[in-house]
Amino acid sequence: MKVFISRKIFGPIIDFLEGNGLEVIVNEHHRKLTQEELIEHCQEVNFLLNIGHIPLDGYFFERCAHLNGIALASVGYDHVDLTQASRFNIPVSNTPEVLSKATADIAFLLMQAVARKAFYMGRLIERGGWKDFEFINNLGVELEGKTLGIYGLGRIGLELARKAKVAFNMNIIYYNRHVSPLAEEMVGARYVDFEALLAESDVLSVHTNLSPETAYRFNMDSFKKMKSSAIFINTARGKIHVEKDLYNAILQGEIWGAGLDVTDPEPMQATNPLLQLPTVCVLPHIGSATIETRTKMSLMAAHNIVAASKGEPMAQVINKEVYNKSNQQ
Ligand code: NAP
Repeated sequence: MKVFISRKIFGPIIDFLEGNGLEVIVNEHHRKLTQEELIEHCQEVNFLLNIGHIPLDGYFFERCAHLNGIALASVGYDHVDLTQASRFNIPVSNTPEVLSKATADIAFLLMQAVARKAFYMGRLIERGGWKDFEFINNLGVELEGKTLGIYGLGRIGLELARKAKVAFNMNIIYYNRHVSPLAEEMVGARYVDFEALLAESDVLSVHTNLSPETAYRFNMDSFKKMKSSAIFINTARGKIHVEKDLYNAILQGEIWGAGLDVTDPEPMQATNPLLQLPTVCVLPHIGSATIETRTKMSLMAAHNIVAASKGEPMAQVINKEVYNKSNQQ
């Protein structure tokens, strides 16, 4: 049996797959494949270990219906049409939990960086702009005791809430579709409706998955309902906010600033005007990018491939219905 891996991966992961009897083929290019290239590579294999966000849509599944399993090396699966995967009986797994701490670290870092204009101050030095000591200029704001609002308090949101509580004694409020008794118990989080989340948050951090309900939820209308001192953080998906509205909202003083690990589109162009604003900090989608986390993610994905190759269920399968279907047959 053969597996195709869509980006370069750590050597020990390949050893692990080979040790379990799989022939491994890796994309040797130092670039993302096009969807057509991915489809072509998949023709000769049984499994796909997919790294990155090439769309796995109806067009892909129509042409790769023979696959016996797809393991994503990501927790987000907004690029995968699960209905189509299930239609062809292909189990798809993701990598929940193992990247929560690293991604929450990036949200935590951005929250502080925006509050203290850290990226802008760094660029100021590079431009030779560090002159005299200034007492009432270049001031930031403090986070101690402020209110952190979380839009989508799940695994990553809870990690951020925990850090913010311990480091800055922040009050945690959140909006989900369901209440989270775990978050309420662990960090004293208070459930509020979306309007109250906008109105009460000093920092508003986005951690939902991207879906038709969450897409472009943060637009000028929502930014206008936030505090003029509010910090907006998005480490989930760039399409959850409207980038042009975010820029205008900061420029017009509707909110204080923003920290982004995700943009729309990605990569963000160097000429994007958001990058010039003192209270904006942007990172190139590095939420899970630590040695430890990327190792755990690839190992989890590899375990799912090995399970599928043995005819066993993938432990982190997302479209569980494929297994229910096969039980019923
Ligand atoms: P998770 O545990 O599933 O948490 C997502 C939360 O969002 C859930 O608590 C869910 O609660 C809530 N939610 C979903 N739809 C909602 C809606 N329409 N309205 C309000 N709340 C909603 O997921 P996670 O592991 O924390 O990951 C979250 C996202 O982070 C991923 O989907 C991915 O896109 C992103 N991510 C980014 C990076 C990065 O590198 N920057 C790394 C990892 C993950 P309810 O079901 O109760 O609504």
